[in-house]
Amino acid sequence: MPGSESFTAGSEKPRLETEIQKADAGRTREPDDPLPAPDESLPEYDVIVIGAGPAGCEASLAAGRAGAHVLCLTINLDNIGLHPAGPLLAGGEKDPRYRLLRELRELNGVLPVLLDKEGIANTAEAAAGRVVIDRRRLSLAYKETVETAARIELRQALVTGLQPVSGAWHVETRLGECFTAGCLVIATGTQLEGKVHEGGTVAPGGRHGEIPSNSLAACLQSLGLALERANATCFPRLDSRAAPLGPSLLPDGSQLGELYALDLEFPGDRAAQLASIRTLPELDSAWMTRPLFTVRHWILSHGQVSTHLQCLRHPGLFVAGRAAGACNYSEAAALGLIAGSNAAIQSAGKAPNFLTTNKKVVTKLCEIVASQEIRPVTIRREPPGC
Ligand SMILES: Cc1cc2nc3c(=O)[nH]c(=O)nc-3n(C[C@H](O)[C@H](O)[C@H](O)COP(=O)(O)OP(=O)(O)OC[C@H]3O[C@@H](n4cnc5c(N)ncnc54)[C@H](O)[C@@H]3O)c2cc1C
Repeated sequence: MPGSESFTAGSEKPRLETEIQKADAGRTREPDDPLPAPDESLPEYDVIVIGAGPAGCEASLAAGRAGAHVLCLTINLDNIGLHPAGPLLAGGEKDPRYRLLRELRELNGVLPVLLDKEGIANTAEAAAGRVVIDRRRLSLAYKETVETAARIELRQALVTGLQPVSGAWHVETRLGECFTAGCLVIATGTQLEGKVHEGGTVAPGGRHGEIPSNSLAACLQSLGLALERANATCFPRLDSRAAPLGPSLLPDGSQLGELYALDLEFPGDRAAQLASIRTLPELDSAWMTRPLFTVRHWILSHGQVSTHLQCLRHPGLFVAGRAAGACNYSEAAALGLIAGSNAAIQSAGKAPNFLTTNKKVVTKLCEIVASQEIRPVTIRREPPGC
């Protein structure tokens, strides 16, 4: 029941939050405490990728393609590559997301190839209008691709700590395992210190009811990295039996039971949101299956990585995807590919150099993340249907 799992913003810290934080912290440590020694029986990896959203998947695949032995850790293996909302394709050739997807394809990125798979998204239709990507099929396709890729191991684990040790990185999980790699890619999406704001309530957590990544956020700060707040909003969904399809009411991919109310953003609790929706033409008997919700989370502040997405003060630590400030799934995938490629190069003892200047959109994206000055406003808040 939502009432027992949430609390009103500003109220006293509820028991649940304390319990979740305890659970996340797992083995509570002071930031300066050393991590447990790595398990000698576990293999050492060239690259460990934390996260398996579009950024983590592309990072793992790119690093694996480059010859690195990769471990990809994620909170829930059922949610690999799964978006909180069906992301949109729209705007045709002029849309930077298209240009990004085209460049990604030329860089051997997997997302454009998966999108072309029948039933996931029709990019030709999207050029003429708005198409919601079938997020479940995309997730399954990503999962299968990563699971069958050479040199990549997948594990379900919540990472709670990182530590640079003699030119390598130790990674601790909530269950107390410790893995070692030459390089790390942080691709934790909207999870760092995540809080779900829904219908006037706030509860710690991430997109799919996932546990928030609190200890890792604290650990990144203890490594001297500056984090800042960002928001991502998911619009309400309506029962398709009581709402007509339209430019702003699109089916969730092949799942026809619910419609995304793409531009409907009304404040208030569930009842207030529904009452506002019902004042709209043809929606007087609409039924809301899910209210609007926003995930407030932390991302890395700009200007702390090179254009190769490596942290300036921590060699071997790369950041990608939403955690680096990406504002949509194509950007997240592109940053993942760049970070994973460079992490593989660095782990082989060479200077990261994977950034091709003829890929203008990708290059610009990396420059934005690396720059202290340029700050695209879209990063602050997920624009409607981004
Ligand atoms: C409510 C909401 C609505 C959104 N709507 C859209 C939209 O319509 N269109 C769009 O393009 N984008 C949307 N986004 C943004 C979307 O999340 C990004 O575009 C994209 O998913 C970011 O990809 P990512 O790989 O960086 O992160 P994510 O897809 O969020 O993946 C993060 C991964 O990191 C893992 N992880 C996190 N912390 C840890 C840890 N400590 N240990 C191990 N694993 C960890 C998670 O389990 C997950 O696998 C939305 C986001 C939210 C929250």
